[in-house]
Amino acid sequence: MRQKYIAGNWKMYKTPSEAAEYARSLGEALRGTKHKLMVAPAFPCLPAVIDALKGSNVLVGAQNMASEEQGAHTGEVSVLMLKDLGVKSVILGHSERRHTYGEKDALINAKVLLALKHGLEVILCVGETLEEREAARVDDVVNGQLAGGLAGVTLQDMPRITIAYEPVWAIGTGKNATPADADAVHRTIRATLSKIYSAEVAQKMIIQYGGSVKPDNVKSLMAMENIDGALVGGASLKIDTFAPIANFDRI
Ligand code: PEP
Repeated sequence: MRQKYIAGNWKMYKTPSEAAEYARSLGEALRGTKHKLMVAPAFPCLPAVIDALKGSNVLVGAQNMASEEQGAHTGEVSVLMLKDLGVKSVILGHSERRHTYGEKDALINAKVLLALKHGLEVILCVGETLEEREAARVDDVVNGQLAGGLAGVTLQDMPRITIAYEPVWAIGTGKNATPADADAVHRTIRATLSKIYSAEVAQKMIIQYGGSVKPDNVKSLMAMENIDGALVGGASLKIDTFAPIANFDRI
């Protein structure tokens, strides 16, 4: 039985003081939740949020990191800096990084390998655009992003990887994949992982769904056989929406 994993991506919202206050309330509201939980604030908010969630059951992750350990990379943030702050996890290959900032699989793969080398957990995001879906290329695109993003990742490192399937057309749009459509892609992802690694790795892999997850659709998504959690954007920014999602089994 796979543990459900609910993560919140706060994107470029909340100042450090707003984030700290919110994190304190969230820590209280999510106490006793049996699912794995993570929030990913913007870089400048990390120290305050880590401090606010100390002793809670909510992990703190980053939304991105550089592909190099250190060096002349103006504006970048390195894995060494994140680790020093106490960050445990990092989201890589988010569709906004791929499509707004032009990140390709090779760059994402370098980041994945570096994060694993330094002991971080990784949420690797994959997902097709509307154009790719309409051209019936979903499996091709997702399988390509998986193979590219995971190149060189060993069997031993796979327990620290989570895959987030996030159809680009469903992110921040209010449109979400139907539970059955999402589950079908999750099944494909599991089959691909079974081919690349093993049936055991594929069975154990946590595959989150992301794309307009809300309190009113989370239960039907989480009921699907291959959906093991959610990566939540907009609805992770307020306690009224994130707490019911994280406690979906109680609503
Ligand atoms: C996301 O940013 O990963 C996301 C899924 O956003 P939203 O929930 O707002 O669609």
